[in-house]
Amino acid sequence: MDGRALAERIRADVADEVSDLDRAPGLATVLVGDDPASDIYIRNKHKAAREAGIDALDHRLAQYASEEDVLGLVQELNEKDEIDAILVQLPLPDGIDENKVIRAVEPVKDVDGFHPFNAGQLYLGEPTHVPATPLGILALLDEYDVELEGASAVVIGRSQIVGKPVAHLLLQRNATVTLCHSRTKDLADRARAADVLVVATGRAGLVGADEVKEGATVVDVGINRAETGIVGDVDPAAAGRAGLITPVPGGVGPMTIAMLLRSTVRAARYRRGQLAYPL
Ligand code: NAP
Repeated sequence: MDGRALAERIRADVADEVSDLDRAPGLATVLVGDDPASDIYIRNKHKAAREAGIDALDHRLAQYASEEDVLGLVQELNEKDEIDAILVQLPLPDGIDENKVIRAVEPVKDVDGFHPFNAGQLYLGEPTHVPATPLGILALLDEYDVELEGASAVVIGRSQIVGKPVAHLLLQRNATVTLCHSRTKDLADRARAADVLVVATGRAGLVGADEVKEGATVVDVGINRAETGIVGDVDPAAAGRAGLITPVPGGVGPMTIAMLLRSTVRAARYRRGQLAYPL
């Protein structure tokens, strides 16, 4: 499943949608500290946003910023009318309570979908803002017409950012979902039973080729640095058994940014009353 090609098309669609709005959507990112990986993520998001015609504003606070500094900035961004979407880059430095910061973001502007209101809406089966990676996974499965209704879907990893939300999205599409994690017994047997297998653990090669059912659809979310470059959580030899599989890189990764841009337009539409936001 080619995430690069689909992401490119989605980004072009987003650019079209942006040009139909009365003014460009405003996306504010907040980066605290000088983590080099976070810096790269933020730069990539800004570049993609600009290409889609979104006004991206880069807010940076020093590593030693206090929790009040971060909460103060978030509040300022909540109050700014020209800001439609707020993205606080995680992780935050030690000493800053991430949950407190996440809860401080105005839910309608929370394009990451981490605020308890948005997470709760997903739990209720009425999604509002949903984290971008799970949205990207569903978009890829749909692009390749993967049957989800009644399918056995196994998700390995239960993080708030990938595993849990993707399990909810699959459940909503009437898949029978098994959510696995580090304490799951018989992980290999569970993986082998999956028609749709989503792996998001950050453990290179966790799923071996013989743990994939013949003809299954495999989504490899993992990003792991190896001597050979970036590798996923699934042994690439699994491509020999899978019906469909995402490459790493070039699968889920590019979809995440594309879906973040789409969520930014969604936030702009919520705020203009073009879509109903239930809060
Ligand atoms: P995370 O918060 O560290 O969560 C990892 C999950 O994997 C946890 O639920 C953990 O179980 C489970 N796990 C760890 N070792 C396991 C094992 N041996 N067997 C079964 N389950 C195991 O990670 P994350 O943020 O979800 O990210 C997961 C991976 O996806 C990372 O490589 C990350 O870089 C990548 N990622 C990619 C994108 C993208 O755009 N492509 C976006 C986000 C994340 P416990 O809960 O029991 O500890």
